[in-house]
Amino acid sequence: MVSQKPVIFVVEPFGGSIRWHNPSLPLIFWDDYAVTRGDGIFESILIRDGQAANLNRHAERFRNSAAALGLPEPILESWLSATDAAIEEFGDGEGKCTWTYSRGRASTGMPTAWVVIQPIAEEVLAQRDEGVRVMLSERGWSFPAELPAKTLNYAATMATLRLARERGFDDVIFTDPEEGHILEGATSTVVTVKGNKLRTPAADNILPGTTQAALFEYAESQGYRCKQKVMDTDYLLGADSVWLVSSIRIATRVRRLEEHKLKAPNNEAEIRSLIDAAMSRG
Ligand code: PLP
Repeated sequence: MVSQKPVIFVVEPFGGSIRWHNPSLPLIFWDDYAVTRGDGIFESILIRDGQAANLNRHAERFRNSAAALGLPEPILESWLSATDAAIEEFGDGEGKCTWTYSRGRASTGMPTAWVVIQPIAEEVLAQRDEGVRVMLSERGWSFPAELPAKTLNYAATMATLRLARERGFDDVIFTDPEEGHILEGATSTVVTVKGNKLRTPAADNILPGTTQAALFEYAESQGYRCKQKVMDTDYLLGADSVWLVSSIRIATRVRRLEEHKLKAPNNEAEIRSLIDAAMSRG
């Protein structure tokens, strides 16, 4: 059955059992640290052709994020079976799957954990084709470099995105306030293409992207040369093309960076299908 409603499965964090949850009913309590502190982790995973894309990398990062925050080690088999059950109910369409693992209730000390699959927002689908206008913003906060984690704490990122939209941009690339180096997108990894060279920023305090990792592995096998590089704004402006890559949007080309228009490269379709193919390899 194809359902366009969100599908939710709760994961019982210690025993590992899973249960369906009615999306019209509330799920978390008033004293959940996800709400009061943004204290928890998540993964966003693309569902395509009835499969979760790039799943091993997501599961690995999820485990690492939990360890970084000192959450009980997630029972991955339960998360995977909740994901399978949700895919089955969601049907065949493309979907956004989110794993959320909160430190849970202050009063009980029990973590809260659930998996959702929902349709992908129209805006996100449109940006795959249309590209994005990007504002640069210094990022004055960072997570400790030795604890890279995909945490629920995105309030400052969302505030920066709203500011960008008010100013006529679609997205943000963060820069390091001291050196001006390029860090990452608001919810994506920056990738540049020049000839057969793919580059992504080398920087502390950025989230290791699963999409970028899948892309680099596949692109290397297709004859591209891929590596990390410390880069600044001029480096982006000198590339053939600049992309924001992430699990659900997959890839969107930066068509404007601040006041600079970035021309579409001749190989736009080739790069797009390279990224798309990298995401289809499981
Ligand atoms: N960087 C940040 C800050 C993100 O929030 C995300 C995704 O949400 C990414 C990078 C891209 O990660 P992935 O390719 O694993 O989706």
